[in-house]
Amino acid sequence: MSVETLPPASAHGQSRIARFGALGLVLLIMGLTVGAAERARGLADERRQAQVELRRAQAASEQLRAIAAETAVLGNIDAPHANEAFQAGAALAQSVDRLQHLGVHGPANDRLRKAMKDLVVQGTAAAMLGREGKVKAAQNAYHDNVDPLLSGVIRDTDEQMKVEDRRAHHATVVARDVLIGGTLLGLLALALLVRRFEAIARQGRAETLLRRQAFTDALTGLPNRAALEIALGERLSVSTSLADETGSISLAEPDLPPVAMALLDIDDLKTINDSLGHGRGDELVRTIGARIAATLGPHDLVTRFGGDEFGVLLADPSPERAIREIERVLQAIHRPVLLGDRDVRVTASAGVAVGLDVETIVRDADIAMYAAKAAGKDRVSVFSQSMRDDALANLELTADLRRALTRDELFLEYQPIVDLKHGRVDGVEALVRWMHPVRGRMNPVEFIGLAERTGLIGPLGWWVMQTSCGQMRRWLDEGWADPTQHVSVNVSPIQLAEPDMARRIARILRETGLDPRQLQLEITESVLVDRPEALVADLTELMGLGVRIAIDDFGTGHSVLAYLKDLPVDVLKIDKAFVDEIESDAGRARLTQGIVQLAQALDLSIVAEGIETAPQASLLHGLGDMLGQGFLYSRPVAPSVAGQLLRDGNYGPTPESADFTPDFPRPSAA
Ligand code: C2E
Ligand code: CA
Ligand code: CA
Repeated sequence: MSVETLPPASAHGQSRIARFGALGLVLLIMGLTVGAAERARGLADERRQAQVELRRAQAASEQLRAIAAETAVLGNIDAPHANEAFQAGAALAQSVDRLQHLGVHGPANDRLRKAMKDLVVQGTAAAMLGREGKVKAAQNAYHDNVDPLLSGVIRDTDEQMKVEDRRAHHATVVARDVLIGGTLLGLLALALLVRRFEAIARQGRAETLLRRQAFTDALTGLPNRAALEIALGERLSVSTSLADETGSISLAEPDLPPVAMALLDIDDLKTINDSLGHGRGDELVRTIGARIAATLGPHDLVTRFGGDEFGVLLADPSPERAIREIERVLQAIHRPVLLGDRDVRVTASAGVAVGLDVETIVRDADIAMYAAKAAGKDRVSVFSQSMRDDALANLELTADLRRALTRDELFLEYQPIVDLKHGRVDGVEALVRWMHPVRGRMNPVEFIGLAERTGLIGPLGWWVMQTSCGQMRRWLDEGWADPTQHVSVNVSPIQLAEPDMARRIARILRETGLDPRQLQLEITESVLVDRPEALVADLTELMGLGVRIAIDDFGTGHSVLAYLKDLPVDVLKIDKAFVDEIESDAGRARLTQGIVQLAQALDLSIVAEGIETAPQASLLHGLGDMLGQGFLYSRPVAPSVAGQLLRDGNYGPTPESADFTPDFPRPSAA
């Protein structure tokens, strides 16, 4: 006897014949179990226990038979019947388990139960999503895994029979019969369940379509976040309800592992959207989605979570396996993607989490994904408690920062910007600091990123703008500064994107009474890469007022070199990385020289940043006229000291030779 005689659930036209086949099978199994019951009646104690189980098995099989009959009348199995069939199957499996304890053990039996469990889990998710491909996979899993395992169970049982004594042998025969009968009925229940999956998948075209739309992502055709969350919940509830209903000896192992999911996020998609357009960005998302799905197995559920994020419900809940699988996916993502006529290469970062409830799993996977990004992107990290602690600490710091803005915990220091030719202080750069009530003094690298991610950079940045313009006005009024000097203020890309950015700056200038020519804005190169129209217009407007625009950290990010002449920019701030290597790296030195010549040709001023040694200063000075900033001259200092430097600071002319020793007065931090 073989489960091959069960109806293949996909066979449409033959379903009636198949149903009668199934019914016949049930009756056959009934005969077997009843025969076993009769033989069991004459046996001793343990056999009486077997009888109890047997009666349970009979009741369950009765129920299954009735369901089979009813559904034959209905023409198809519906959800309540399938549920009932499944319950009965589970009860049967429980009886089978107990009977095992009475004499029949075998590894194949365990594998069988595991295969059945997997089938339930896969099938449920598949049916719920109405995905015929997945239903098919569940059916195949049933034929490929469950069926051969059944033969294994029978073989195991036979093996055991050979080594047991007569009495045990006799009991075993009974148990084996029941086992075979019971297991087959369990399988029948599963076969019916698979049919239920199929029935749901096919339930009326309109309903399926609606279901699809609700659970499908329009861009990629993958299931969406809602689908993933439902599948997660379903999978968790199948696991736990099996464990509850059938106790420790059940379809589900007692220590059923929790469910694992991965969250993948394409790194820097924004750059691609910005430079190649959203259409190409969408194309990229589609390609990556397809790659993820193609790399993973048929039982892993790949969904688009939204934006450039993909959620994966992994068939195997072990984190070690998850890492291996996701690393394969990350490798696949490395392959270039052809967008238009360009080969684009991207990476992705992923977080993996296991857990027992949907919300926690999703949240933890998200935290782990951010940890992977923070660790340098293009990697996978598995959620750990310390990550949650970090995330919480970040939340706390965010709350602290919000409060800092209203409690005067932020303050500014100013670093002089020196004319290398004469040693005169040309201006100062305003740099924000935070006096945290518990952590003490914090540098901007510790909180600017957080402020940008949480939107707090808006109020923070405007506070810096207001305060530094006000400070410059005061220096002028008190005679510390003169109208040729300037204050330079860092402006975050987030602030630059604010629609009324230019008007707000103009208003601050009006309110503080500062001449626009005494204000310089420092913006990073990357915001200008695509020459966003609105920003270029705003900067042009500000330049019209006399405000100076500087490109900060020039030479480090995406280069705007090619169209530098078209941008509303007055100043290039050459990044410290160039200055650091100007002595040691001839290539860098030549590049720096090139930048200086280009700037001169375009009539732009230059500020060299992070000058720490006298030879650096003189090498730079040898390249051409420029301003410089760095610890060689002064660290960022409090406003009172900065005032003195603006008025009295004179570092003397920089020799145009690298071998001189500095000899200028260091300002005392008064
Ligand atoms: P940045 O705009 O490139 O500022 C220069 C940074 O280099 C400052 O660090 C300054 O202290 C440091 N520096 C100057 N000379 C030297 C030197 O000779 N050697 C070394 N090792 N470092 C030098 P700081 O103050 O920690 O600021 C770090 C970054 O935080 C700034 O880099 C800027 O991007 C950001 N930042 C600071 N204040 C603000 C602000 O008010 N708004 C915004 N959006 N960003 C700010
Ligand atoms: Ca700066
Ligand atoms: Ca800089």
